[in-house]
Amino acid sequence: MTTGTETETTHHDIGEYARYLNETYLGGRSRARVVWGRRRTLPSRRSIRFACYDPQRNLVIMNRKLDNAAIPAYFVEYILFHELLHEVLGIGERKDGRRDIHGSLFKLMESTFPDYEKARRFEKELCRRLGTL
Ligand SMILES: [Zn+2]
Repeated sequence: MTTGTETETTHHDIGEYARYLNETYLGGRSRARVVWGRRRTLPSRRSIRFACYDPQRNLVIMNRKLDNAAIPAYFVEYILFHELLHEVLGIGERKDGRRDIHGSLFKLMESTFPDYEKARRFEKELCRRLGTL
């Protein structure tokens, strides 16, 4: 393994999810590649991140911990959708010139995801359970 990322999937086919989300909610505008992160790069439990978007490589890296039967597909899709929105919307700027990565348009588009509220609740719950997955 030399690439540092993997596309091999056990439970959630994130490539397929990304295609679906792009077609359904993003008008086909996303061009990012979507991969699982390395198994051993988990952050500490207190600062867990489920995914990140790297604009230089136009790459969404998903936390391997999400590729688990205990994680529902809508949650993986929600996390993925969030990162794809970062790609499609870019980084906005507020009136005072500061970076606005989760601006009003971002939040509006994020809330168009049908399972948004359910996913947010699951996220809170998951943060408590993560140590046992
Ligand atoms: Zn974000």
